[in-house]
Amino acid sequence: MTKLAKRSWAEPFKIKVVEPLRMTSREERERALVEAGYNTFLLKSKDVYIDLLTDSGTNAMSDYQWAGMMLGDEAYAGSENFYHLEENVQKYYGYKYLVPTHQGRGAEHLISSILIKDGDFVPGNMYFTTTRLHQELAGGTFVDVIIDEAHDPQSLHPFKGNIDLNKLEALINKVGAKKIPYVTVAATVNMAGGQPISIANLREVRELTKKHGIRVVLDATRAVENAWFIKQREKGYEKKTIAEILFEMCSFTDAATMSGKKDLLVNIGGFLALNDYDIFEEARNLVVVYEGLHTYGGLAGRDMEAMARGIEEAVQEEHIKARIGQVEYVGERLMSIGIPIVQPSGGHAIFLDARRFLPQIKQTEFPAQTLAAELYAESGVRSMERGIVSAGRNKETGDHNYPKLELVRLTFPRRVYTQAHCDVVTEAVEAVYDRREEIRGMETEYEPKYLRFFQMRFKKL
Ligand SMILES: *Cc1c(COP(=O)(O)O)cnc(C)c1O
Repeated sequence: MTKLAKRSWAEPFKIKVVEPLRMTSREERERALVEAGYNTFLLKSKDVYIDLLTDSGTNAMSDYQWAGMMLGDEAYAGSENFYHLEENVQKYYGYKYLVPTHQGRGAEHLISSILIKDGDFVPGNMYFTTTRLHQELAGGTFVDVIIDEAHDPQSLHPFKGNIDLNKLEALINKVGAKKIPYVTVAATVNMAGGQPISIANLREVRELTKKHGIRVVLDATRAVENAWFIKQREKGYEKKTIAEILFEMCSFTDAATMSGKKDLLVNIGGFLALNDYDIFEEARNLVVVYEGLHTYGGLAGRDMEAMARGIEEAVQEEHIKARIGQVEYVGERLMSIGIPIVQPSGGHAIFLDARRFLPQIKQTEFPAQTLAAELYAESGVRSMERGIVSAGRNKETGDHNYPKLELVRLTFPRRVYTQAHCDVVTEAVEAVYDRREEIRGMETEYEPKYLRFFQMRFKKL
């Protein structure tokens, strides 16, 4: 009898359509890796067995969503599906105005270019790649104001996504509120390992920023997952529904950017939601330039319908319980065999701690990138680097940014893999761990200018 087999998160669905998986040989995978420059982003999907690269747009849609796709109203303007989406954003997230975008970064682009002026500062609870880049392209400088515990993979703080109010206040005092157009609050914090922010912290951030007339923009991409953690961990929220908690979270903010490809269970889509009419007006104007008319924002009617329905399904308790339960299940199994991971396990992913996994590899020789490549070679499981490669280069000096964390992210697509797949993943990580001492680092072969982790190439040392 094993104590590990927790069944409580069993998938709250049965399978109606299946997509066969392709197995590969070790030899085929070694060849694929060389072709991909040891970057898992450059592997072909057909060469991947279990794909834990990302949970972005990799969701399995429900029959209810697929049925909605058939009701796509593909009018250029004023599509029915836009109004359904708008209604659900208002109902579940509580913002007044909606501007659909093709995905999250489309919304980030709009809000950054509207609110940020050259020389501004944008504080946030740890950076996210596309969010920070859009802030920088608009002339701003991102400032990390997350609590220190977020950078410590072994800290068991229940809300490692919290903002450090002292850091935020110090920035306001240093540069002045006029130079801070808004604070970005991510919930959960992807780069910290899918760690949540508490309601108490959101409330305090709201109070402090209100005093100084600074806006708060929520990165709501994973806010439903965040709501689940609040329900589990924050006093007074045990009995509230996920929908109630989500609504309350949003109430402390002025606007939200959303990648529907995560929480909202679709393959493509996003939006910007706002309470301020003047900013909405500008965003509605600008979206026409970059995405499409303000009632479709780069999406087909059917995509908006699938996302509108995804909003309803995302907050269902059984869904989110199983979603995060699956991630926790893998985390517990890995910890039980001594694999170093970021604790507590996050909402969407398990993060292997590559610094402790491969202590012999220097940060400039890409420990996490190396580990992701080794895991693929071992098993066909695709993961991704979240370390020095993802952190990019310093805008001023041109040197690498050196993040404290060197992580490999095993990200779980929603409603896609079963518990048996989870077991295979655990065994694959264990097999790499058993031969960890033989593993050597890598050097750069090619580096692109923006968001280098997507296309960078490496060579084995
Ligand atoms: C994915 C993601 C984004 C960007 O959204 P895209 O749809 O990929 O453009 C922004 N913030 C967070 C937290 C994300 O996970």
